[in-house]
Amino acid sequence: MNDTTPSTRGTLQAVRGMNHILPDDAPLWLHLEDTARRVFEQYGYRFLRMPVVEPTPLFVRSIGEATDVVEKEMYSFEDKLSGESLTLRPEATAGIVRAAIQHSLTYERPQRVWTHGPMFRHERPQKGRYRQFHQLNLEALGFAGPDVDAEQIVLLARLWKALGIEDCVTLKINSIGDPADRRAYREALPAYFSHRVDVLDDDAQRRLSTNPLRILDSKNPAMQSVIEDAPRMLEQLGTDARTHFDGLRQWLDRAGIAYEIDTRLVRGLDYYNRSVFEWVTDRLGAQGTVAGGGRYDGLFESLGGKPTPACGFAAGMERLVLLLRENEQKAAPAPLAYLVHQSDAATALVWRLAETLRDAGHDIVLHAGGGGMKSQMKKADASGARFALILAEDEARDHTVTVKWLRETGHEQQTVPIDGLIAWLAAVAV
Ligand code: ATP
Ligand code: MG
Repeated sequence: MNDTTPSTRGTLQAVRGMNHILPDDAPLWLHLEDTARRVFEQYGYRFLRMPVVEPTPLFVRSIGEATDVVEKEMYSFEDKLSGESLTLRPEATAGIVRAAIQHSLTYERPQRVWTHGPMFRHERPQKGRYRQFHQLNLEALGFAGPDVDAEQIVLLARLWKALGIEDCVTLKINSIGDPADRRAYREALPAYFSHRVDVLDDDAQRRLSTNPLRILDSKNPAMQSVIEDAPRMLEQLGTDARTHFDGLRQWLDRAGIAYEIDTRLVRGLDYYNRSVFEWVTDRLGAQGTVAGGGRYDGLFESLGGKPTPACGFAAGMERLVLLLRENEQKAAPAPLAYLVHQSDAATALVWRLAETLRDAGHDIVLHAGGGGMKSQMKKADASGARFALILAEDEARDHTVTVKWLRETGHEQQTVPIDGLIAWLAAVAV
């Protein structure tokens, strides 16, 4: 390519629907990540990090062929060297189960694990819906429940509280039964919908024969009333699934968690069975689901593993950050001090001082790039720091620092000996 080709001349932009998290936005993200990590660890869930690319068949086999994700949303490509079809992960559970089988993670005992990171779906970008988005994923592998199903819901309730958004979200639960229960239902549903084909959109008409349960998951407003009146899976549960669901409700009642039973809640992926749940908000318009999950007792087997009951959820981080922002939460951390320095002698001292303060556990920004006092002070102020610590020729000679309060009023600027600075900070910076 020579440099007159258009692609080297135009300004390059990020791929549509794939966003940056720039430094001004990052504090809320880090706050969310830190808080989630703390809560997940409190319940004994251990971190694991997963590859972003997996073999395409993993998702086709687990999520299911006749689902939105597999039919239209996956970023799949051929590996140029091996010819293998690979996919940018649209969700995390399938990969985690693949890893658990590959590394016999549940061979000796069940495992509680969690991860977070980017997912990729080719959707129409809009508020709360992107093509690269991020999830918190938490899975209990090898637990038959329903105590563990309830544990994950209770854990999320604690996370909402820790984030201060507990008043913005509500819980919906349902049971979609076991595969045997669904067999009869899969016949009842098409029978019902086939009398109302005129209101079904193209996707729904196709799914009448391929995956009628998915019709219940449609977001098409024109179909909502016909979906509303459809037969309910919850009324056709077998004994085991019924007992499981009653058990889940009992655990939630004991924990004091309020919920609504939503008989149309089916979730968008095929691997779920029995308990399904969603936490929803009315603050984000159409993209109201902030977390969704449920049980996937058959997934290990369908990916070639031993039968292993399991339960998990995914929470959408963009939607949670939007909620945090709606609540005007600003978790912007600022340095304690910004070090302003001028003259060779001061600059020589200031590096060591910055390191000593950091050794003492303080967050310190050291001015870089030279410039006059005035412009350095402007940068000190913009950094959000509480103090400017100023070292110029006089201070360097006297081994002192001039301390200026940048946020609180009513404080005179003062001179503090360098050797006494850590003690001085400990006394004032509470
Ligand atoms: P939706 O019904 O909103 O499409 P979904 O059922 O496809 O969600 P899941 O596969 O259950 O979503 O993913 C769990 C969570 O991940 C969702 O509840 C949502 O918070 C988030 N999520 C899913 N798709 C996107 C996306 N394209 N952009 C941002 N967040 C998303
Ligand atoms: Mg979706």
